[in-house]
Amino acid sequence: MSDLQELREKVALSCRIIAMNGLVDDILGHVSVRVPGSDEMLLRCRGEEEYGLPFTTPSAIRKMNFDGEGPELGDRYKAPKEHPIHGEIYKARPEVGCVIHCHPPAAIFCSIAELEFRPIFGAYNIPAMRMALEGIPLFPSSALITRPEMVTPMIEAMGNKHILLMKGHGITVTGRTVEEATVRALNFDVLAKATLEVAKTGRTAEHISLEDIEELPDLAPLLPDGDKWVWRYQVKMLEDRGWGLER
Ligand SMILES: [Zn+2]
Repeated sequence: MSDLQELREKVALSCRIIAMNGLVDDILGHVSVRVPGSDEMLLRCRGEEEYGLPFTTPSAIRKMNFDGEGPELGDRYKAPKEHPIHGEIYKARPEVGCVIHCHPPAAIFCSIAELEFRPIFGAYNIPAMRMALEGIPLFPSSALITRPEMVTPMIEAMGNKHILLMKGHGITVTGRTVEEATVRALNFDVLAKATLEVAKTGRTAEHISLEDIEELPDLAPLLPDGDKWVWRYQVKMLEDRGWGLER
């Protein structure tokens, strides 16, 4: 299989994984990957055979430049209206290899209520706790991002972080690889759900203690393949549910 085809399959799998986990509903949301060493990306497009994110096929992952144009689109495929989110981030941040933009319900409700993300759990999900500790930037606009200049303030709000919560709209998540960005989006969903559920009880959750935070290990050296393992689990779950890619 060519490298490009492998990347198309990964992006299609990422779309299916975030759908299976409830981060996207029907046709809204898109994932892209940078074509290594080029000014092009592979982005999830919509075509005649559009059945929503859970049914994304590698053929819907089309190559285009960072302005959302290219011969692979043709008459049959349309880049999503929010394609500038992907292209502008690739232009501005060379370390980013994958961009996910979607509208997960828990994150959206948190953004509308402007709930604060705090480290309220520990070993339950250490990467999600660390996200809360580092802070989740909130982009105040709820507009559909259809023009490159609309992405500039998003990138500014994001700084060097990998997640941007967009008020009343959704999330944009980046990663070096498709696997990393996908697992990050899933972890952020855990944090958003916990934050929302606790807020619904009407009680204010306490920060976990600094001693506990210090005691929690840095997982990167302990589980260097952690993202890969979670990814493989998710792909297996897709297959188990009959949502896997046809071979
Ligand atoms: Zn959107």
